[in-house]
Amino acid sequence: MSTSVKNVAVIGGGPAGLIAAETLSAAGVKVTVYDRMPTLGRKFLMAGRGGLNLTHSEDLLTFRAHYGEAASWLAPMLESFSPADLIAWAQDLGQETFVGSSGRVFPRALKASPLLRAWLSRLADQGVELRLRRDWRGWNEAGELIFATEGGAIETAAPDATVLALGGASWPRLGSTGAWAPLLAAKGVAMAPFRSANSGFEIAWSKMFAERFAGEPLKNIALSFGDRTIRGEAMVAAYGIEGGAIYALSADLREALSNGGHATLEIDLTPDLSRAKLTDRLHRAPGGQSTTNLLRKAAGLSPLAINLLREAHGVELPREPGALARAIKAAPLRLTAMRPLDRAISSAGGVELTAVDENLMLRVVPGVYATGEMLDWEAPTGGYLLQACFATGVHAARAILKTWDEGAR
Ligand SMILES: Cc1cc2nc3c(=O)[nH]c(=O)nc-3n(C[C@H](O)[C@H](O)[C@H](O)COP(=O)(O)OP(=O)(O)OC[C@H]3O[C@@H](n4cnc5c(N)ncnc54)[C@H](O)[C@@H]3O)c2cc1C
Repeated sequence: MSTSVKNVAVIGGGPAGLIAAETLSAAGVKVTVYDRMPTLGRKFLMAGRGGLNLTHSEDLLTFRAHYGEAASWLAPMLESFSPADLIAWAQDLGQETFVGSSGRVFPRALKASPLLRAWLSRLADQGVELRLRRDWRGWNEAGELIFATEGGAIETAAPDATVLALGGASWPRLGSTGAWAPLLAAKGVAMAPFRSANSGFEIAWSKMFAERFAGEPLKNIALSFGDRTIRGEAMVAAYGIEGGAIYALSADLREALSNGGHATLEIDLTPDLSRAKLTDRLHRAPGGQSTTNLLRKAAGLSPLAINLLREAHGVELPREPGALARAIKAAPLRLTAMRPLDRAISSAGGVELTAVDENLMLRVVPGVYATGEMLDWEAPTGGYLLQACFATGVHAARAILKTWDEGAR
């Protein structure tokens, strides 16, 4: 392959950009990584604060389904850089992984910093050059990339190919601001507006409830919205509710909120007990006790769950066992808004999937590839976000190598 004289600019040093840089430089390509921040991988490090859920151990077909409408589009990329490949890659960088109780995969260190350190050192060994504090501003009239430096000077670059890995638009202080979107739109790249994904929702809790329970987890619950029910955990926040089970429904809830102004989520506080069994337990409980004691002793509800029930139904709960069981198993939570984009774990929107070809090259800007969260797919938390960022980064890099390889024959 005559790629040794070729050079690639990777713009954005998050997981998608760094894995593209690694793949290309391993094949002898001269790679320069540009990033607007003074250090790389800031969102990756932030993900590490929650333990760094790298990927998921379920079978690929189940795994894929979490990407919703983008599932079949992503399928070939997830097959050629699979969860098993990601785990092997982390291990090769000295980070053993383990499968958590929910099937999610984490590094044993439960943080991103040792992995990122080893990764950057590998990139340095492979000759990857870093140009930090370089804010990409598009192209000049000669078709060169332009970057603004911190001092305001403009630098240009004319690589043989460019990999864009600019991230989404959540948590902008970590570097991914989405400010690049108009630059691509001006070139005629189809763009979908950024929206919060994996985000909390606002609920008008009473002052007492918010003050007493904010920060407390609701364990072992089931949440239902439309025809979907998710078992898992959520967290009460002063503003409303957040957490894994909420994020899994957040795309549907977001659409409902955008259509009708509010959405009602049903929470089942005893998902392991059928309604009939729960009714029976409530029926058999000794009479004369307060509703709070009945809920605590016969239904096994925590103080948080009991108070949540009162928030959902109003302070007066029914005493009749059948009606009370129904109230416990379908407590309505009225969501009034989604949390703003800057607090979401990830964003939907960005470069539309139809705007790139099967190699992830922008159809209207030849030689420029888009990878990672900047593409318009979304997925819940559970390791699906990082896995797709890695898989798309690898895919674009391999496609570039293949194109040059074919051109050289
Ligand atoms: C709190 C939190 C926890 C998370 N936890 C998990 C988790 O456990 N598991 C999981 O799978 N995912 C998790 N995620 C999501 C995951 O971190 C992201 O999906 C992933 O980092 C996106 O990778 P990326 O490479 O596409 O973009 P990013 O990691 O966002 O990197 C983009 C890079 O591009 C740079 N950039 C942007 N614009 C420009 C420009 N104009 N010029 C130059 N550089 C630019 C940015 O500075 C940044 O370094 C979490 C996210 C957050 C916020």
